[in-house]
Amino acid sequence: MPTAKKSISDLTDDELLGKKVLIRCDLNVPLDDAQNITDDTRIRKSIPTIEYLTSKGARVTVCSHLGRPKNGPEDKFSLGPCAVRMGELLSKKVELAPDCIGEDVNMMVDALSDGDVLMLENTRFYKEETKNDPGFVEKLAAPFDMFVNDAFGTAHRAHASTEGVTKFLSPSVSGFLLAKELEYLDGAIATGETPMAAIVGGAKVSSKITVLDALVDKCDKVIIGGGMVFTFLKAKGLNVGTSLCEDDFIDTAKEVMAKAEKLGKEILLPVDIVIADSFSADANTKVVPVDDIPNGWMGLDNGPLTTIAQKEALSTCKTVIMNGPMGVFELEPFSKGTFGLVDILADITAGGAVTIIGGGDSVAACEQSGRAGEMSHISTGGGASLELLEGKVLPGVAALDNK
Ligand code: AMP
Repeated sequence: MPTAKKSISDLTDDELLGKKVLIRCDLNVPLDDAQNITDDTRIRKSIPTIEYLTSKGARVTVCSHLGRPKNGPEDKFSLGPCAVRMGELLSKKVELAPDCIGEDVNMMVDALSDGDVLMLENTRFYKEETKNDPGFVEKLAAPFDMFVNDAFGTAHRAHASTEGVTKFLSPSVSGFLLAKELEYLDGAIATGETPMAAIVGGAKVSSKITVLDALVDKCDKVIIGGGMVFTFLKAKGLNVGTSLCEDDFIDTAKEVMAKAEKLGKEILLPVDIVIADSFSADANTKVVPVDDIPNGWMGLDNGPLTTIAQKEALSTCKTVIMNGPMGVFELEPFSKGTFGLVDILADITAGGAVTIIGGGDSVAACEQSGRAGEMSHISTGGGASLELLEGKVLPGVAALDNK
């Protein structure tokens, strides 16, 4: 059972009024060449926590990274556009500090009034940020009384602004976004209602093996989809044609299947497959049983009978976690397996199941299908959500105060 972490809602009004709060948000938004924000979702999602803090009279300073600046400050990685957009969304001025540490920043933080919001410049303008350098950490924390972490996407990294500052700032607590991620990803798996199922898809066994192994322990059923299917099929002695297959992981696939059998867990592989004669949207395609993939053809999606079998398997489940697509859903002819599964998940959510979607591609598929809002929880952090599901402790979370 994971240790429950304190969140801003556990703090009293006195603990927030007039306090100089450093909040780590994830404002790593996409920008076009003219520095226009092309998707402001991350800024919008950060608003409820900031509004809560300002409504309690806290003096809020937001920090974040943006992109991967390699050589110090660069205009194209400035948080300027984020400060403007955040100001619009909060209907108040959000000034951008010229730096994230230093005397000027300290003075700007000291000049804040209750309910004001300031934004620091990109923390990754200093290489010390990702190195969690103690001298940098001390400077970053210097002007503040307390810390709020609301950046789940970077919580698996022990950086100065995610982990380091907690050593200097107390209380250090989660914001609403991070608290919700922990409630679902940590909480559902530890204490979720059973039967519990995991759906693991995506390209390769090699990148998902740790999570797959952990989920076989925790879940009653594990549905495998995507490119990794073919390593499993080959491990069962079947022909996979020119499908993606990691021969080095055939033994690993056998071990996973043997472990599931020993534990009495069900592993569901596809029963039919959409195959193509090339990896392209205008390839010739057909649907074949998994034991009938001809040479020269590659499997790129689940077939319709597989989707029906998945519906049957999931219909009794009370908690379902999805990570990874069922096929090459970016190309229309190979998208039905993924979108069919998204529909099943939305329907079982309406029936009372808890559904948790993690990983960029699965989230994108839910959004494209227009059903993202029907899931119980859509996770914002790809790497962080995988590490949580693997049972790892995220440094940015571990460092927060316990309840
Ligand atoms: P991952 O980043 O490991 O979650 O993999 C996601 C990618 O896997 C997506 O871009 C899919 O197009 C790709 N993918 C899914 N199924 C297959 C498949 N059968 N063959 C090749 N690539 C696949």
